[in-house]
Amino acid sequence: MYMADTKLISKIPEGPLAEKWAKRKAEIRVVSPNNKRKLEVIVVGTGLGGASAAASLGELGYNVKIFCISDSPRRAHSIAAQGGINAAKNYQNDNDSVYRLFYDTIKGGDYRSREANVYRLAEVSAAIIDQCVAQGVPFAREYGGYLANRSFGGVQVSRTFYARGQTGQQLLLGAYAALNKEIAAGTVKSYPRHEMLDLVIINGEAKGIIARNLVTGEIERFGAHAVVLATGGYGNAYFLSTNAMNSNGSAAMQAYRKGAFFANPCFAQIHPTCIPVHGDQQCKLTLMSESLRNDGRIWVPNNMEDVLKLRKHEIKPSQIPEERRDYYLERRYPAFGNLVPRDVASRAAKERCDAGYGVNETGLAVFLDFADAIKRLGHQRVEERYGNLFQMYEKITSSSPWEEPMMIYPAIHYTMGGLWVDYDLQTTIPGLYAIGEANFSDHGGNRLGASALMQGLADGYFILPYTIGDYLSHKFAEPKTDTNAPEFAAAEKAVIDRIEKIFAVKGTETVDSIHKKLGHIMWEYVGMARNEAGLKKAIEEIGELRKEFWKTVRVPGTNEEFNQELEKALRLVDFFDIGELMARDALHRKESCGGHFREEMQTEEGETKRDDENFMYVGAWEYKGEGVEPELHKEPLKYENIKIATRNYKD
Ligand SMILES: Cc1cc2nc3c(=O)[nH]c(=O)nc-3n(C[C@H](O)[C@H](O)[C@H](O)COP(=O)(O)OP(=O)(O)OC[C@H]3O[C@@H](n4cnc5c(N)ncnc54)[C@H](O)[C@@H]3O)c2cc1C
Repeated sequence: MYMADTKLISKIPEGPLAEKWAKRKAEIRVVSPNNKRKLEVIVVGTGLGGASAAASLGELGYNVKIFCISDSPRRAHSIAAQGGINAAKNYQNDNDSVYRLFYDTIKGGDYRSREANVYRLAEVSAAIIDQCVAQGVPFAREYGGYLANRSFGGVQVSRTFYARGQTGQQLLLGAYAALNKEIAAGTVKSYPRHEMLDLVIINGEAKGIIARNLVTGEIERFGAHAVVLATGGYGNAYFLSTNAMNSNGSAAMQAYRKGAFFANPCFAQIHPTCIPVHGDQQCKLTLMSESLRNDGRIWVPNNMEDVLKLRKHEIKPSQIPEERRDYYLERRYPAFGNLVPRDVASRAAKERCDAGYGVNETGLAVFLDFADAIKRLGHQRVEERYGNLFQMYEKITSSSPWEEPMMIYPAIHYTMGGLWVDYDLQTTIPGLYAIGEANFSDHGGNRLGASALMQGLADGYFILPYTIGDYLSHKFAEPKTDTNAPEFAAAEKAVIDRIEKIFAVKGTETVDSIHKKLGHIMWEYVGMARNEAGLKKAIEEIGELRKEFWKTVRVPGTNEEFNQELEKALRLVDFFDIGELMARDALHRKESCGGHFREEMQTEEGETKRDDENFMYVGAWEYKGEGVEPELHKEPLKYENIKIATRNYKD
């Protein structure tokens, strides 16, 4: 058994679940407008989390500096989000509610997230849609003008708002417009093409960052009264993922090394519907949105003869009659069918492929078929719903989903783990906050589809702008942070030393070739199925690969220029540490839950087997120094408003 840890104070308000957020807001000290003007906040990241937070903080009157890697804030990774954003509006009159969204999210996360946070997320979800509509986000509408909804995995209602297959782009344009208003008003100063390379701590509190100007290479110091990390997830530790190529976990790692605990690093999401890997030269995987599972049916042949013919291109999938098909999700999970959660759908695809029924040359693909939907709804309706996704698929594969089913396979997509935060979204470092995918807060062992955008915008528009006030209300009498302080000089020197060390290797290997090797280790041993021996091997092999990097990497050019090889090398150094931490966390968590599937812990039917008695906690890791094993802290999870059960999507 485990005890509550004195270093992890979650600050969950007392009282009934539905009143906790109102209670906390009433307790939070408010900063007056004239004092807000004296306070500075750094926001790192301009995805939906960062852009919404910075716009809201600017509008409140704080002085905000916002940083991103891309040439414009509006090119953050959030722009890739396709399928939609959840909210408990009950527009469909299908019995949706705040409670149901809360329940689905806790169950979907396999009972490994905090009740209070998830309930608050569901509570503020409706306001997000109102805010975005007011900004002009062109959500899909019904004939009568109401906003349209569709379903995502793990739920039995339709609560997903969408803008065709470009929801993230439209939401980000809304947040970016709000951000630009603040930039024009002077409350927000934007630093595009600036990468945070270290966090500066003074007297135990976050006071600024060191950033590299990616165009000139200049290393710059920025001070503030508080720092917010909205730097996204670390899925690219696997090299191949659906994430943007620039997505990385470095800012979170810099914070971790300075004292922020890293929670549940092993909880990574594998998305069931991605375009399968094509060859060894690929550097990016493409997602086919989960929304496609509303109408698409997933299947493989139920006999080896057809499988072999398909692989040899002797028959087309459409030639296989109904009775020779296995719609395995509909067969195994009749109540949810093709809309089971991602972890369940991914494992089921792997199970069929491992059993030999994979339908492409590599044996690592299943079909996602729209023939029924086209018959039922007609070409035009299907085109309206999924047109751009069909087009994207055809451009990449040269096969038309209008004629033959798509081929899909699971791929790394999202990371539920992240910096540990309390109910106020503050990390274990006072003055350092983490929002959006960068924190661990709401999704437990598995995130439900369309809930990441909801969480990022909930954090940025409606939670952080209140909770950060509590901290800043004690700071307005403090002078501006002095970037000449020795702590800034030391952090800057450490960054410069790191860069010089990388250039000094002068080896022969490209950064990508080493990253690819890390990806292989991660996918093989810390991927969809994990076991003790494999995880130990992963830790060992990552250690070896790290050594190889420091002997063999070659980064051409200099620091004083736009140098993407250098950027990638700096991030890869952090991916080694993230990968190792993920494996360590996965090794210690001797249970299967959500996306974390330990082969030793499964039911006879191959489903996850949780161990609530020993693992119903958030595992948060504390950095103890280079080459030293990190220390695990445990935040027990209490379920007072939901009955803990084995996840069931069958009936
Ligand atoms: C293909 C795809 C489709 C998706 N579709 C959906 C969907 O339909 N619905 C849904 O809910 N979710 C979806 N998701 C997940 C969702 O898009 C992300 O979880 C979410 O957008 C993350 O937002 P964020 O603000 O936390 O971070 P991001 O959007 O990842 O932004 C990170 C920001 O941090 C900056 N940054 C990172 N490191 C540094 C640094 N060191 N210094 C300075 N800046 C830095 C980046 O430049 C960027 O601006 C999808 C994900 C993918 C990959």
